[in-house]
Amino acid sequence: MNNPFYKIIDQEEVIFEHVYKNKLPLLLKGPTGTGKSRFVEFMAHKMGKQLYTVACHEETSATDLIGRYIIKGAETIWTDGPMTRAVREGAILYLDEVAEARPDIIVALHSLTDHRRTLFIDKTGETVRAKDDFMLIATYNPGYQKGFKELKPSTRQRFVSLSFVYPEPKIESEILISETNVEEAIAKKLIKLGAKIRNLTELGLAETVSTRLLVDAAILIKSGLPQRLACNVAIAEPLTDDNDTLEALKDLISLSI
Ligand code: ADP
Repeated sequence: MNNPFYKIIDQEEVIFEHVYKNKLPLLLKGPTGTGKSRFVEFMAHKMGKQLYTVACHEETSATDLIGRYIIKGAETIWTDGPMTRAVREGAILYLDEVAEARPDIIVALHSLTDHRRTLFIDKTGETVRAKDDFMLIATYNPGYQKGFKELKPSTRQRFVSLSFVYPEPKIESEILISETNVEEAIAKKLIKLGAKIRNLTELGLAETVSTRLLVDAAILIKSGLPQRLACNVAIAEPLTDDNDTLEALKDLISLSI
């Protein structure tokens, strides 16, 4: 895989290196689209490490992560899940949106996130000690928005935590240009529009415009879609289903773009 582009925002790279060196688990906090996954891909590539990513959702269970018996012909064969593979191989296990998963995965995480660094596979009775260079990373979308689950304080305290926020305009503009090759003037307009929407708390959006949405708009503009239309479909529509809010966003787009 090519080196993923990631624009360093603050101290995250050096913090990551120290957390890894000291075999601690890492929690990345922040709203969607702020570069958490890209950062992990970038660091995994930089360190030459295998990365196992699990996008957690409400059906994700410990079995999905640890493994299961699979019937093959007349035989029943144990198959490691991504967590077990990462633990055995000394890879990075990346649990995206860990709070969304079923509570039984939190139990499985306990012995992995403390000094024991072990994983107990109850179905086989095996206790797997994590290889020295195993690293656990999880992400969490803080619970101030509707619809997102909370992560219990006792679980949060098991991780060293790093916050991701929307980057400042200069950096966000660099990201847009590097990601899409869009002209600087258009990048600036998109960033300004993003800032306006982020400031409009009265719109009552569950989550506001992320760097990801601005990148998507820039991609469509670069591909030749008219600018306002690109912003309507890449920014306004993904943010809300409420007609009044949608109209307000589209008006704002017409004024800004
Ligand atoms: P998250 O995991 O926080 O939901 P992603 O890592 O998937 O977000 O980022 C979404 C998109 O935003 C990426 O595909 C990339 O285009 C862009 N992006 C956000 N932050 C950065 C950054 N610091 N460097 C490079 N790209 C970024």
